[in-house]
Amino acid sequence: MTDVVRIEGVRVLGTHGVLPEERTYQQPFVVDINADVETSRAAHTDSVGHTISYADAAADAVSVIAGESVNLIETLAERIAAKVLARGALSVTVTVHKPEAPVGTEFADASVQITRQSPVTNADAGIRHAVLGIGANLGDTHAALDWAVEQISALDVHVDAVSDFVGTAPVLAPGQAAQPDYLNAVLTLDTVLSPYQLLAELQRIEVRGGRVRHERWGARLLDIDIVDFDGITWDSERLTLPHPRAAERLFVLEPWHSIEPEATLAGRPIADIAATLAP
Ligand code: ATP
Ligand code: MG
Ligand code: MG
Repeated sequence: MTDVVRIEGVRVLGTHGVLPEERTYQQPFVVDINADVETSRAAHTDSVGHTISYADAAADAVSVIAGESVNLIETLAERIAAKVLARGALSVTVTVHKPEAPVGTEFADASVQITRQSPVTNADAGIRHAVLGIGANLGDTHAALDWAVEQISALDVHVDAVSDFVGTAPVLAPGQAAQPDYLNAVLTLDTVLSPYQLLAELQRIEVRGGRVRHERWGARLLDIDIVDFDGITWDSERLTLPHPRAAERLFVLEPWHSIEPEATLAGRPIADIAATLAP
């Protein structure tokens, strides 16, 4: 379920085509952009910085159409799509019309439409490596982690390694009620799933694991977070990569280091990050 930001009929003159005269004389190109985005955070903050501005998307179309001459509207569509994805769209559909193309017969419109995915929604990106953090602090925590590992292994993933289960005192916000100790582990895997698909599967496992979410950072039967997914950087309400608090958490970095000593987080060796944190 995604939201769509759309701008249609962006009309720009350009010099694109395979005929020499098309490189000399301008003709109109018309662009439609449908960007899949998560708009809920923008709605909460009422800040355009949390969505994709249709004005920015239109500016992307203008800069490509008014820019360097190319042969094909396919090329124009691809370049516009890349620019809109770079603004944080989950996926984008771009249509480039060339209504006055030299077709040699009367016609109403000619166009090319393409759809491109972001790294977090692309399910055709091949096998990618991910790191998960698993935690529990209610009930039989050891059994909960065992069960979670079993459930994760049954997904469309290949589990590479599972760390030892490590007990940790909970980090409480000021005034927060006491909680039992956590049991944490880190699991590494390879998968053809996209980050969004993997997150949805993990959330289904959390729910089946009896997780009841009363408050953020509250005690829970099972928490599964994506610590890192193939080094992708992404920031949205539903998914932030790498996990924004992983670099502050020894209960993530230490078990991760035990199974992947050379791993990096946001470009830094995790051993270095862990060394800067007080034990
Ligand atoms: P923390 O994120 O500090 O570990 P938490 O795991 O207790 O806290 P949750 O209640 O499990 O937080 O998750 C809150 C929301 O975070 C979820 O709805 C999920 O969509 C979102 N989220 C964003 N980035 C990630 C991520 N990398 N892994 C898992 N969930 C994420
Ligand atoms: Mg968590
Ligand atoms: Mg979580």
